[in-house]
Amino acid sequence: MPSALPHRSSAASRDARRSTANPWTVDLRELGRRPGSMQEIEKSIPAPAGWRVELIGVPEGAPVRLRLRLESVMEGVLVTGEADVPLVGSCARCLEPIEDSLRVDLQELFAYSGSTTEATSEEDEVRRVEGDFLDLEPMVRDAVVLALPLAPVCTDDCRGLCVDCGQRLDDLPPDHTHEVVDPRWAGLADRFATSPGTPGNDNSEEN
Ligand SMILES: [Zn+2]
Ligand SMILES: [Zn+2]
Repeated sequence: MPSALPHRSSAASRDARRSTANPWTVDLRELGRRPGSMQEIEKSIPAPAGWRVELIGVPEGAPVRLRLRLESVMEGVLVTGEADVPLVGSCARCLEPIEDSLRVDLQELFAYSGSTTEATSEEDEVRRVEGDFLDLEPMVRDAVVLALPLAPVCTDDCRGLCVDCGQRLDDLPPDHTHEVVDPRWAGLADRFATSPGTPGNDNSEEN
């Protein structure tokens, strides 16, 4: 449909160069502005740095797999779909490395400049179409980062670390314990110890 092509300006060709440099940018000229027109996007883009919370995140450069549907509506472009990302991090209980993956659902309206939605929304309330392009990265990043667990675990029943020796309890026999004497009683225990192997035996009958 050649009639859908807008006339080329120098600004448009600058935008076009920018769009090829940035894989997150979608050129909307193919979709057009007729409400109801649709475009499917399925692609894999390397993750930028910084998609993480304290203990887990998406490794920089790892593939972000997108399956999106762009739909032209009166106010702008409605983007729906999902993103799959790999995750690496460490268990909040035992600090073991974790490898996982995450799928997030996406649904956002990118408002046209001059649309009622844009005019009635605060600057940071709504995503915007920039010229003939929209930038998918902030939308996907926000959805992924919001879905990251603040306390990821290696397994749901991870028992964490032994508070005395710092080893993973899941790697130790179930009866793992340490003979620990309360420091307040350590002196007494030494005084009353009759055999060196039983320092914890403080219910002595000698007094
Ligand atoms: Zn763990
Ligand atoms: Zn221990």
